[in-house]
Amino acid sequence: MAERLLISEKTVSKWETGNGLPEVSLMKPLCDLLGISLNEFFSGERLDEKQYYAKAEANIMSLAAEKAKAKKDIVLSIIVVAMTLIAGITLITIASLIEMTVALRITLIVIAELLVGGGICVAIVLDRDAGVFECPHCGERFVPTTMAYVFSVHGINWRRLRCPKCHKMGNCKKKLSRKEEG
Ligand SMILES: [Zn+2]
Repeated sequence: MAERLLISEKTVSKWETGNGLPEVSLMKPLCDLLGISLNEFFSGERLDEKQYYAKAEANIMSLAAEKAKAKKDIVLSIIVVAMTLIAGITLITIASLIEMTVALRITLIVIAELLVGGGICVAIVLDRDAGVFECPHCGERFVPTTMAYVFSVHGINWRRLRCPKCHKMGNCKKKLSRKEEG
């Protein structure tokens, strides 16, 4: 099998012992070799025609759930940022408009800055986890590290990232799911 799939025997051994899963590009050739469908592969069992459709629906549903969660995380991150910004601006406004001691004024401003900073950090982590990016060269989908994410040049739905698979820099498109669709 390793020979037929052009991979090492060690990799196949990993699958057999449950210490690893085949990567996406190998799934179809592996299924063809085993004479099973991708649907049976994902379900982990042989399926008759009736079961087949039920499992296909279930697999599509889990994909849909993954996408829905990604969308929810994006909305959540927007709310978190909006709330912390409003709270921060309110505190700064209070600190600058109302008569108070210098110490209190500084305390309020520090709290405001921590709020805004914290909110932005939370939003970045949530936003990063909310989706994956697709390499324009090899099609690999991956979640970038927080550092790479924060310091990358980006547009609304793309980011300039280095692909972990082919190691090329590219404008990677944001995707809602790790799997092929969407
Ligand atoms: Zn790539």
